[in-house]
Amino acid sequence: MVDISQMNKVLELPSFVRLAGKKLVQVEAGISIRQLNSELDKRNLSVVTLGGIDHQTLAGAIATGTHGSGIDLPAVHGMVRSVVLVAGDGKTYRIEPSDGVSDPANYNEPGITLIQSDDDFNAVLVSLGCMGIIYSCILEVLDMYWLEESKQMDKWSVRHFAEQGKIYMTSPVGMRFVKASGAYLAPDYGRDVCYIDTPFLQGIIGADELLEACQDIMFAGGGFPHWGKKNSRLSAHMDPVAKTFPKLAAWKNIQKKFDPEGIFANNYTSRFLLT
Ligand SMILES: Cc1cc2nc3c(=O)[nH]c(=O)nc-3n(C[C@H](O)[C@H](O)[C@H](O)COP(=O)(O)OP(=O)(O)OC[C@H]3O[C@@H](n4cnc5c(N)ncnc54)[C@H](O)[C@@H]3O)c2cc1C
Repeated sequence: MVDISQMNKVLELPSFVRLAGKKLVQVEAGISIRQLNSELDKRNLSVVTLGGIDHQTLAGAIATGTHGSGIDLPAVHGMVRSVVLVAGDGKTYRIEPSDGVSDPANYNEPGITLIQSDDDFNAVLVSLGCMGIIYSCILEVLDMYWLEESKQMDKWSVRHFAEQGKIYMTSPVGMRFVKASGAYLAPDYGRDVCYIDTPFLQGIIGADELLEACQDIMFAGGGFPHWGKKNSRLSAHMDPVAKTFPKLAAWKNIQKKFDPEGIFANNYTSRFLLT
């Protein structure tokens, strides 16, 4: 286990970064979303999107494909323009898309190799920690703005499960929408998606059965669970991994390139045949 909570500072934007009218910030990737919000607030800036909580780290949110909602808004990884990865091969890389924000002609970071490749960038974003440690990210953010909230309730879930299994949902089902991204291992790869949240109160009787029933219904409908939430039925439905991620083979090759000896592989990633 690696504790990245002290990697939580806002860093200066390197001089080789081309702004081109964008609002960019560079932060250490262990910063919590709450701290990030507060640092952006001081600069009159704002994130493009947020999940439902703010205590997770930026790196953890990116690595699991964490998302908020808005059909025109990307998931958290959609804000990333550059990452510094301390890879499993012992080397450090700054990884960006091929038209990345760093000017290769002026690039000068000692000990860090600049890679501008769509393949590498799209593979490293949602990578469940198994390519190495993301040290920092350059994010594209927005001027500060305000949101209006509106909520609508429906009794669908209560009726369905009560009739079928005489068990009851304890919280409303949520629906959220996320714009497509290029991240190879994100459920939103190449397509706009709807996420259906089925939260439960902690410790209630029947929660695990309900959660598994919800997962099976969603698998049957072609759904795929969040990498960073309870996805206990995924092991029983392995074919969706290959079906959902057309770039899985490319992702695996890049994972092997950055972590050839599998230093960052773990039980979780092995269970889903990612490493
Ligand atoms: C109450 C609750 C509400 C949530 N709400 C939402 C929501 O609204 N939307 C949503 O999409 N998700 C949501 N999640 C899921 C949550 O965003 C993810 O589980 C997230 O990964 C947690 O971040 P963490 O910092 O705890 O990461 P961890 O759990 O510590 O790590 C998650 C993954 O990231 C990797 N990782 C962590 N740091 C690094 C690093 N520096 N470099 C490389 N890899 C790294 C780890 O290896 C691991 O694979 C919620 C979770 C909870 C518990």
